[in-house]
Amino acid sequence: MQMTSIPNIARKNAEVSGYSLEELEHFRKIFSAEIREHEAKARRFAVPILILFVAGFGAVLYSLLCVQPPLIWLLIAGLALVATGLVLGTIMAIAFRQELTCPACHNYFIEEIQDCCPECGSSSIGFHDWRGWRHCDSCGKDLRTGSNRNFKYKACTTCGVFLYQKGL
Ligand SMILES: [Zn+2]
Ligand SMILES: [Zn+2]
Repeated sequence: MQMTSIPNIARKNAEVSGYSLEELEHFRKIFSAEIREHEAKARRFAVPILILFVAGFGAVLYSLLCVQPPLIWLLIAGLALVATGLVLGTIMAIAFRQELTCPACHNYFIEEIQDCCPECGSSSIGFHDWRGWRHCDSCGKDLRTGSNRNFKYKACTTCGVFLYQKGL
């Protein structure tokens, strides 16, 4: 096994999570396969959504530029297609990510912060402060959730196993 490919943070993770380095490496492999599978699924949906966009824009341009007076129904249909594409794209992106689970504890990977820090996997994470943020003593981050989330999900927030260096 290539020890150099394991980030320091993951090595520290082995000391606290109770799993061996080999087991952690195994979990990361399962998880990256899971991510690849989800990306492939997302790509299959990306094509029809892209077609919706192109058709919508085409209809808008045609109704405005090529016909005088502009065809209002075509314009509205085009805008509706673009809007549908946007909504579907957003739903897909969110839905696929929420399906990811941790191979170690089988809880959802993208979750409200539980007992462990999603950035480093440490369990030395405080309670909500007055701003609703949680501070991790290990990596020093103030974790802000919600629409302006300021961290990436790299470790399972339930069991602390470090899974994805790139983060989601
Ligand atoms: Zn877990
Ligand atoms: Zn942390």
